[in-house]
Amino acid sequence: MRQEKIQQIRYALVQEMEKLLSIADNTISKLKNTDGQFADPFDQAAIETNKFVELACRDRERQLILDIKTTILLIDRGLFGICDHCGTIIAEKRLVLAPLSRMCMPCQEIMEMGSKQKSVRLSMPGISYSHA
Ligand SMILES: [Zn+2]
Repeated sequence: MRQEKIQQIRYALVQEMEKLLSIADNTISKLKNTDGQFADPFDQAAIETNKFVELACRDRERQLILDIKTTILLIDRGLFGICDHCGTIIAEKRLVLAPLSRMCMPCQEIMEMGSKQKSVRLSMPGISYSHA
């Protein structure tokens, strides 16, 4: 991939990360504001639920921020676009669509097939100990 294109992706990633970081900041200040303001237990329960949802979202955001940071680091080290799994160069089309991909298409498919097989195995009826 051309250096120019990689820098374009890097720039977009930095923008995205800054956006995510500012959302995260807002969530933290919102959480502080709602702390202990309502004595009503139902309101309190609603607030707790909201908090839970927001924190779950923040977990996903945090993971995303981490992925973006890692990708920027890879770009800076000249390792961007190399499959984590087999070491071949990931197709440019794939990287443009999903710059955070760390695996080439074939490896990704193998991984997804593996996880599907695992979930099939888990959903199979196991040995039951309650025959009596
Ligand atoms: Zn691969």
